[in-house]
Amino acid sequence: IVLKGEGGRKMNCKMYIDGQWVEGKEGEKLEVVNPATGDILVYIAKAGYAETERAIESADKAFKTWSKTTAGERANYLTKLYHLMIEHKDEIAKIMTLEQGKPLQEAMGEVVYGAGFVEWYAEEAKRVYGETIPASKENKRIMVLKQPVGVVAAITPWNFPAAMITRKMAPALAAGCTVVLKPASSTPLTAIKIFELCEKAGFPKGVVNLVIGDASKIGETLMNDFRVRKLTFTGSTEVGKKLMTQAGATVKRISLELGGHAPFIVFDDADLDKAVTGALNSKLRNCGQVCVASNRFYVQEGIIDDFILKMKEKLKNYKIGSGLEEGVHLGPLIDQNAYEKVKTHIEDAVNKGAKIEFGGEGFHRGSSAAGGYFYQPTLLSNVTEEMLIMKEETFGPVIPVVSFKSEEEVIARANDTKYGLAAYFFTQSLAKGFRVSEALAYGIVGVNDGVPSTPQAPFGGFKESGIGREGGHYGIEGFLETKYVSFEI
Ligand code: ADP
Repeated sequence: IVLKGEGGRKMNCKMYIDGQWVEGKEGEKLEVVNPATGDILVYIAKAGYAETERAIESADKAFKTWSKTTAGERANYLTKLYHLMIEHKDEIAKIMTLEQGKPLQEAMGEVVYGAGFVEWYAEEAKRVYGETIPASKENKRIMVLKQPVGVVAAITPWNFPAAMITRKMAPALAAGCTVVLKPASSTPLTAIKIFELCEKAGFPKGVVNLVIGDASKIGETLMNDFRVRKLTFTGSTEVGKKLMTQAGATVKRISLELGGHAPFIVFDDADLDKAVTGALNSKLRNCGQVCVASNRFYVQEGIIDDFILKMKEKLKNYKIGSGLEEGVHLGPLIDQNAYEKVKTHIEDAVNKGAKIEFGGEGFHRGSSAAGGYFYQPTLLSNVTEEMLIMKEETFGPVIPVVSFKSEEEVIARANDTKYGLAAYFFTQSLAKGFRVSEALAYGIVGVNDGVPSTPQAPFGGFKESGIGREGGHYGIEGFLETKYVSFEI
C-alpha cells in the first residue's frame, strides 16, 4: 500500500534538514504501520549519526540570525504556520488516524489543539519581558535580559503526533531558538506534514529540522553535542531518565514530560452523572493512551454501586473500530506490546480477585501481526492496591474502580506513587475543592474536569513525572536564559 499525499501524489517520506528534503543514509528503512490493520503504509529511509550531525550544524548556523530577528517577525512566521495547520486540518488528521489509530474526530481535535500552541506562542513571542532592578549604589544600574537558550533538541512520542510537536516547537521558535526534532518512529508522517507546512510558512533554512530514524543513535548524537543547549522530551519515564543522564554531560537545560498514574476521585457529594462522563472522557480518549489519562478510580463507598451501574450503561454506547469509520469512539492500540500490557494488567487483576463488570476482551483483526490490536473498554470492580494496574501505567481502556471511606485516606492513597502528573476529583463542596487541590501532589489537578489540557495553562508533573512546564507563559521560560547586566555609569 502506498499512501497517497496531496493531489494523489506519492506521500512525502523524507526528512527536512537545512531547508532540504533528504533521505536517511543508514541503509535501513523504517516501516510505518497502520495500527488498525497491520498494513505497511510507507517506508522511510532512516537517519543515524551523520544526518543528526548535519541537522545540528544547520540549526546552530541558523541560530546566529534567527535569534536576532524581532519578536514580531517570529510571530509572523508562527501565525502563518497556525493558519496553514487550520487550513490543512482534515489532511493532517487523516494522516494521523492512519498512522496512529485514533478516531478521525479526535485527530481533528488534536490538530486544532496543536495549532492552538502555535497561535498562542505567536502572541507570547512579543511578551518576553526582562526587568530592571533598583541598585544599591547611586552610579549602578541593574538590568535583566531574556535571551534564547540556543539549539533545541525536541523528542516526541506517538500518542499525540501533532500536539506534542507544536507544544515544543512553537515556544522554542517564539523565544528565538532553532530546533532539531525527532518524532516517534511509529508516527513520523504527521511530523513530515507539519514540516511541509513550516516550509510553506517560510521559516528560514536551518530554523526547523526534522530527523527520523534510529532513536538511540539520534538521541546520542543530540545529547553528546555541546551546541545543543536544551532538551525537551515527552515520553516514558525510563527513556526520560536515560536522556537526563546523557544531557548531564554537557549540562543542557531539560524539560521532561514523563509517565503518570493519575488518580480519579469521586466524593459522595459529587454530581454523579458529571463524574461518570468526566471519568470516561479522561480515560477513553485515544483508547487510554494518554499520559494524563486516569489510571485508578477511587469512589466513596456510599456511591460506588451507582457509579459502576451508570458507567456500565454508558460503556454500551462505545463503538470500537478503525478510526476512519464513522461513529467509532475507540480505535486500535498502537501495537502488540500495548495490547499485551493491557491484557496482562486485566489478567493480573482478575487473578487477584477483581471482577469484570464490563468488557474484558481484546481481539486481533489485522492483516499482519504488526497491527490490528483492539481492546474492549473494560470496567473492573473489587480492585485492591496490590494489583499491577494500581501501580503501573496501563495505557489502555481499563477502568479499575476501588472504594474509599474518608478524604484523608483517599489523599494518602492518591499520593502514594512515584508519579505526579495529573489527578482528578469530583465534589460539589467548595471547601473540599480547595483542600483536596492543595493536598494532591500533582502538577495538574482537574476539579470536576476530566480534560484540563489547554495551550495557555502550564502542563507538567511533580516527582518522576517530569521537570519543567509546557504551555502558557511558563512554557516559553524553558527556552530562555536569564542574563544579568550590571552598569556602572
Ligand atoms: P512511548 O512509550 O511514548 O513510545 P518512549 O519513551 O519509548 O515512549 O518514546 C518517546 C520518544 O523517545 C520517541 O520519539 C522514541 O523514539 C524516543 N526514544 C526512545 N528511546 C530513545 C533513546 N534511547 N534516545 C533518544 N530517544 C529515544
